[in-house]
This record gives sequence, structure tokens and C-alpha cells, in this order.
Amino acid sequence: MKPYRGRFAPSPTGPLHFGSLVAAVGSYLEAKTRGGDWLVRIEDLDPPREVPGAADDILRTLVACGMTWDGAVVYQGTRGDAYHAALHELRQLNRIYPCACSRREIADSAISGIEGYVYPGTCRTGLPPGKVARALRVDTRGAAIEFDDAVQGRMAQNLETEIGDFVLYRADRVFAYQLAVVVDDAEQGITHVVRGADLIDSTARQIYLQRLLGLPAPRYAHLPVAVNADGEKLSKQTLASPIDADRPLPHLVQALVFLGQQPPSDMASSSTRALWQWALENWRLERVPKLLRIEVHKEH
Ligand code: GLU
Repeated sequence: MKPYRGRFAPSPTGPLHFGSLVAAVGSYLEAKTRGGDWLVRIEDLDPPREVPGAADDILRTLVACGMTWDGAVVYQGTRGDAYHAALHELRQLNRIYPCACSRREIADSAISGIEGYVYPGTCRTGLPPGKVARALRVDTRGAAIEFDDAVQGRMAQNLETEIGDFVLYRADRVFAYQLAVVVDDAEQGITHVVRGADLIDSTARQIYLQRLLGLPAPRYAHLPVAVNADGEKLSKQTLASPIDADRPLPHLVQALVFLGQQPPSDMASSSTRALWQWALENWRLERVPKLLRIEVHKEH
């Protein structure tokens, strides 16, 4: 059996907040209780969305929480050559094509899928004369994907009808998350992906790309996502407060409770060292609620 390699892959769009702490804690404990490595990758693919200093801030907060990673941190911003090589391979396989359609044109002719519009395939047979490419898309015809999620159970998605041909590269030279994550999980030898269930609908796209590129598929476990009373994911946009690096213990206890674990009631007044000792002995993935989202209250 291959040794376990897990990862935490935050986007540096703001400080670590409760929602991302849950993914960090779940992926860390699952890796460490299975004798594995836990890697950290900073997903700085889309410069306009980044907040300067956020990557360092996230890493400092992880250390303050008592979670240290194995090996060097990988930054997606440095990995353009590897993503280009993957695009090149997909082009050789004839599975990607340039697309000139504007958002407006797509909106006018497409039907809605589970994540926005299902691209109607207009440019599959070539760009209309005089039009320039705005993006590269992957052909999803006939792609029906199933996988067993270690928390959420059996999942199935028909990419062609539910998602459509999705974008891998934009004319403004931004690689899509779906492509980068597949290339990097393979390059880093990731065997198990534990992350928030907001990404569960992306998984079929990632498995599809792994198959096209001949890459091994990791096992997946999608943790419930923390949402506010309006059902919105706790993120910088919803102004979830950052984790206090000087006082991480209460946040860590809350993350364990959120993940269905049952730390002793005096844990919040002990120490991070005592918390990790307890958590490493008592973590059980089977206790994580089989839910896509759980509402939490404002103090997080
Ligand atoms: N960078 C993504 C995020 O912060 C996570 C990607 C992943 O875990 O696959 O939401």
C-alpha cells in the first residue's frame, strides 16, 4: 500500500477563518492518525483575488495552532510550466479546444447546470471565423463519473449534462483551479484529499482530468462546510472573523466539535498540546456528520 499523503490547500484570499480551520484540522488529523504526511499547498492561482500577506498569515496561524506540515510549502503561482505541460498533453489527445464565446453569448443559449451554465458546445468544432479564443475548454461528452466519498458516500455526476465542457485556461493567462489541483495533487503524490464539501461538485471534474492525463486518483473525503444563518459559507466575504493566532485553543476545540468529535468539556481551558494529544488518540473520521453543511453562530 502506498503511504498516506494528505494535504491542506488554502487560497490566500484572507486570513485563516473557522471554515478553513475545519478543513485544516480534518485533513491534518486524518493524515497523522494514519501515519501519513500532511502537506500544505498555497493556491495562489488568481492574483487579483489574492490579499498580500495572506499566505504567510495562514502559515503562521497553522503553526500557532500546532499544525506543522511535512516538506516544503508548494505555491501554485510557481507551477505554470507544469500546468502548460498538462494542457499540451490534453491538446495532443484532442480533448481541449479554444472557445471564443462571451459570457453573454453563453447565457443566451445555454441551460443551467449545477454550477452555472452548461456550455452548449458552440466552439467544439472550431472557432467561428474572425473570432479570437477567450478560453480553452475540455470536451466532456460521454463523461459520467462516480466515486465513493469517505464521509458523504457514493457520488455520481454526468459531466456532459450537469457541468458541461469546462474552462481549463483563460485568455488572461489564468489556469483553472480544476486543472492546477489535479496536476499538483499528482505531483505531490497525494493519496487522500480531505477538504470542505463546497468542493464536492468539483471532484468529478478532477477525476475526469486525472483519467485523461493518466494520473492516479486520490481517495476523497468531503467534510461539512460551516455556514452562517443565511446558509452562506463562512469566508472572508461573509466576514467570518479570523482565527486568533494568540489564542487558537477555543477555535480548535470548536473545530473538533464541528467535526463530530467529543473532546472533554475542560479541553478549552487546557493547552494546544493537550488538545492534539487527545485528538490524535481519539480522532475518528466515521464521527464526522454526513452532511454537506452545518450552521454555526457568529462568534466563530
Ligand atoms: N484552494 C481551495 C480553497 O481554498 C481548496 C482546494 C482543494 O482543497 O482542493 O477553497
